[in-house]
Amino acid sequence: MKTFEADVVVIGSGPSGLAAAAQAAEDGAKVVVFEKANVSGGAANMGMGPLGIGTKQQMDMMVDIDLETAFKQFMEYTHWRSDARMVKKYFENSAGTIKWLEESCGVEFAGAYKYFPKSNASWHIVAVNGGIGRNGGAIMNKAIRDYAAENGAEFLMETPAKKILKDEEGKVCGVIGVDSTGEEVQCNCKAVVIATGGCGDNPQMIKERTGYTFQGDMFNFAIPGLKGDGIHMAEEAGAGSTPMNVEMMYILPNSDAGPDCIPAVFMQPNLMVNKLGKRFINEEEMQNTTFCGNAISFQKDAIGFSIIDSKIAKYYMKKGVDVTNFVHHPDDVSDLLEAIENSIANGNPDVVKADTIEELAELCDIDPEQLEETIDEYNDMCDSSDTLFYKPSKYMKPIEKAPFYAAKFRPGAYGTLGGIKINEDCQVLTADWEPIPGLYAAGTDTCTIYGDSYMFLLPGNTMGYCLNTGRFAGSGAAEYADEN
Ligand SMILES: Cc1cc2nc3c(=O)[nH]c(=O)nc-3n(C[C@H](O)[C@H](O)[C@H](O)COP(=O)(O)OP(=O)(O)OC[C@H]3O[C@@H](n4cnc5c(N)ncnc54)[C@H](O)[C@@H]3O)c2cc1C
Repeated sequence: MKTFEADVVVIGSGPSGLAAAAQAAEDGAKVVVFEKANVSGGAANMGMGPLGIGTKQQMDMMVDIDLETAFKQFMEYTHWRSDARMVKKYFENSAGTIKWLEESCGVEFAGAYKYFPKSNASWHIVAVNGGIGRNGGAIMNKAIRDYAAENGAEFLMETPAKKILKDEEGKVCGVIGVDSTGEEVQCNCKAVVIATGGCGDNPQMIKERTGYTFQGDMFNFAIPGLKGDGIHMAEEAGAGSTPMNVEMMYILPNSDAGPDCIPAVFMQPNLMVNKLGKRFINEEEMQNTTFCGNAISFQKDAIGFSIIDSKIAKYYMKKGVDVTNFVHHPDDVSDLLEAIENSIANGNPDVVKADTIEELAELCDIDPEQLEETIDEYNDMCDSSDTLFYKPSKYMKPIEKAPFYAAKFRPGAYGTLGGIKINEDCQVLTADWEPIPGLYAAGTDTCTIYGDSYMFLLPGNTMGYCLNTGRFAGSGAAEYADEN
C-alpha cells in the first residue's frame, strides 16, 4: 500500500474540488487530491462559466444586478425552501471568487451575460481565444488546477477514493483509494473535502433518490464516473442525507452529435404539444430550459413535440432563428432541411417529417383528431392573440404548409443535485445536524439550494455554487487542520 501524509485531502477535482484544493493550498495546507478520472474538471469541462453578482464585469457592462436584488429574487423563486444563510454567503462571495479566478488563477472572462432574455446577466463566460466560445470551463479548470499545484497541491489521478477513515474520537483521519494498477493508496490527514459531483452516471441511484428512470423519463448527461461515490462515503462516515433532485433541462436525445441547426430551430418558441395533441406551455418559456424541462416531464410519457411547417422552416433558413443564446446559437440555419433529411435517413427517431398533419400525428403517436383541433385553434390565434397561454404574437406562426416537421423533446439534466447534508460553512452534518469533525463537502454532492427547480434566471448557478462552496470547504478544512 502506498501511503501519503496531508493536512487536507480533497476527493474529486471538478470545479468544487479544484476550488477547495486551491483555496486550502493557498491558506497554507498540504493538500492531496484523489481523482477518479485521468483529467480534472469533471462536468464543468463542458460548461462555459460561473455566476457572479456585483462583479467588475457587470459594472463595466452596466449590468443592473446587485446582491440584495439577486438574493431576494432567489429566495422568492425557491419560496425560502432553501438554506438562506448558504445562498447569502454564496452570492456575497461570488464577486470575490470571480476576482480570485482572474487575479490568482489567471482566468480571463469574456464578460457577464444572460442565458436568455428573461434571465439576469450573471453568467461569467470564460474567454475562449479572447472571446465567447464553448467549453471555456475546461480552461478555467486547468487554471485553478495549475494554481493549486503551484501552491503545493498534489493530484493523484486515476485514483478513486473508496473510504473515509475516522479515529476513535470520531474525527476524520484519512482516505483510502485505489490507483490505476489496483494498489491501495492511503492518505492520512486531518480534514477531508468531498466533491465527487453526484450520481449522473448511476441509473439505479437516480431512480432510488430522485424517482426518475434514466432513458425513460430522464435523459440526463451521464458523465463517466459520477456514481455517487462521495455521497455513499459521506453516509458511511455518518453524514445525514438530503433529498436529491436533478438540474432539469430538456433535450433532443439523438441530436447531440448532429448539426446545431436542428436543436436551434426546434428549440424556438414553435408550437409545442404533448401526446394528447394539446399545448401545455407558453412556448416563449422554451428559452428557460428548466421551465420547459419541468413542463415536459409532467406530460404523458414525458415527451413534448415541437412542430413547424415548411413555411416556418424556410423563414428560419432565410432570416435566422428568432431566439439565440450562446449554447444553441448558429446564426445561419440555412442547411436545416438538408440536415433534417440526413438525420431521418440516418435513423434518428426523434426528428419526423410528414406530408399531412394526420401522418405527423401517426409518426409521433399523438392523438390525431386533437392535434388537428389544436392546430386549427392555434392558427386562428396567430391572426389574433394567444388567449390560451399568452405567447407574444411575434412568435405565433401558423402551421399550414406541408411538409410538416416535428422534434421529440424529453426531460434532461446536467446532473444530480444534493445528497450530503452540510451547513453554510460546508461542514458535513449528521442527521441530527451535528458537524462531523474534519469532514467537509462541496459542489453538486451537496447542492439543495434550488428547491424543486434549478434557478436558471441567474445563470451560471451550479458552477458558481460549486466554486464558492469549494472555496468555503477548502478554507474551513485548512483552518480546522491547522487548529488540530
Ligand atoms: C454540458 C454541460 C454544460 C454545463 N455548463 C455550465 C455552465 O456554463 N455554467 C454552470 O454554472 N454550470 C454548468 N454546468 C453544470 C456544472 O458543470 C456542474 O454543476 C459542475 O461541474 C459540478 O461540479 P462538481 O465539482 O460538483 O462535480 P463534477 O464537475 O462532476 O466533478 C466531480 C469530479 O469528481 C470525480 N470523482 C467522482 N468520484 C470520485 C471518487 N470516488 N474519487 C475521486 N474522484 C471522484 C469525477 O471524476 C469528477 O472529476 C454544465 C454541465 C454540463 C454537463
